[in-house]
Formats: sequence, C-alpha cells, structure tokens
Amino acid sequence: MDAGYSIRTTLPSVGAAIGTAVHAGLQRLFELKINGGIPEKNDAADVAITKFEDEAGNGLEWDDTTQSLRVAHIQIARMCAASREVAKRIQPCLVEEALKAEVPNGYELTGHVDVFGMDGIVTDFKTGALERPYQAQLGGYALLIEERGFQVNGVQIAFLRRTPSSKSQDAVHWSTQNLETSKMAAWATIQDIIRTWDQFSVSHDPWVINANPMSMMCRAQFCPAHSTEFCKMGC
Ligand code: SF4
Repeated sequence: MDAGYSIRTTLPSVGAAIGTAVHAGLQRLFELKINGGIPEKNDAADVAITKFEDEAGNGLEWDDTTQSLRVAHIQIARMCAASREVAKRIQPCLVEEALKAEVPNGYELTGHVDVFGMDGIVTDFKTGALERPYQAQLGGYALLIEERGFQVNGVQIAFLRRTPSSKSQDAVHWSTQNLETSKMAAWATIQDIIRTWDQFSVSHDPWVINANPMSMMCRAQFCPAHSTEFCKMGC
C-alpha cells in the first residue's frame, strides 16, 4: 500500500547483526543435539561468523559496545561459547520453527519460535544491552504453538548480554514470565495492531499510530521514519 510517505534507508545496527549471528550459532547447536551429535567448541562460532559477514555486507551502524569488526568477532565467539549453556539445558522439540495462525479481520499472526522444549516451555533467546520482559512476544509464540496443537506449559527468556570486550562475558540469565499474562498481552497487542492498521489503511494518517519517542530505537540511525513527513516526534 502506498500511503504517500517517503522514509529513509538505515543501516542495520551492529547489535542486531550480532544477535542474528549468535542465534544462527545456537540454532546449529540445537540441530546437532536433535541429530544426536555432540556440539564442539567452534560449531556455533563458525556458523555465527559466516552469518555476521552476510549481515554486515552492506555496512553496519557501529556503537560504543562494538566499535569495529575485530571487536564484533571477539564478542560473537564469546557469546557463542556462553550460549552453549542454552543448548545444554533445553531438550528441543521445535527449533526456529516458522508458525502462523489466523487472527480477526483476515490477518495472520506469524513468528519464528527460537526453541520449544520437550517440557512444553517456549524459550526466546535474546541478546542485547538491556534485558526486558517481552511478555507480548512470548505470549504470541505461545498462541502460535498452541495453534499447532502442542500444549504450552510456560514461557521464558534466555538473555545473553553483548558485553563490552574489555569485560568478561556475562553468563546467560534466565527469566520466566507468567504464561496467561503473556498470552493476554499478546492478544491485546494483536488487536491494537489490527485496529490501528485498519484505520491507517483508510485515512493514511500517521497520528492513528501511537508514536514511541521513549524507545531506544527512536534515533535517526535506527528509525527510517525519523525526521520525515511521517514522524517528527524523534529528537
Ligand atoms: S521517530 Fe521515534 S516516534 Fe517517530 S516513528 Fe521513529 S521511533 Fe517512532
């Protein structure tokens, strides 16, 4: 749909690129585990570095935690080593599974679940600078997995900080969220998105969408709408 706005092109952030890379490494560890293999020290790192090179192909937005390619490689290797704990702890049933479900007004809910364990627990693997609760996202995964016919017993985050290379790598931090609260948060968010998109597709009025200038992503280097006719809320 062309709503008549032009937005800018932004480079991917180095944090997102490292996150995608370490996810690819963890997926490799789970695949080895499902097939009865024993993950070796560099199995995840080799896959992750290759993925990072793909992500960085057209340039990256570097930041204070990862200032260069050399630092990125060090962090990826250390994060992959730390992420082996996730692969050890979880007996996987579904890994990086693409799921979808019908929601009202003819829309589809889609998502890739990082890992759903044999114990019925959904785990989302997060990398980044700050740990957050992510209930709505976890609840969305739970809804999708239930739609596939599985019983979900819980939802959790395995958080691995992108630690500055001058400090030792933090270990994985596990946090559990309430399953029913997470599903309610997901359902409320889904309905809000449907309502908002239905209004915007008729009016093309950006003010029907809640702006979020408090977000860490509300910066010219991250948000393609920043300083355009679509949104002048960013500072
Ligand atoms: S500039 Fe900020 S408030 Fe506006 S769309 Fe981007 S992130 Fe949202």
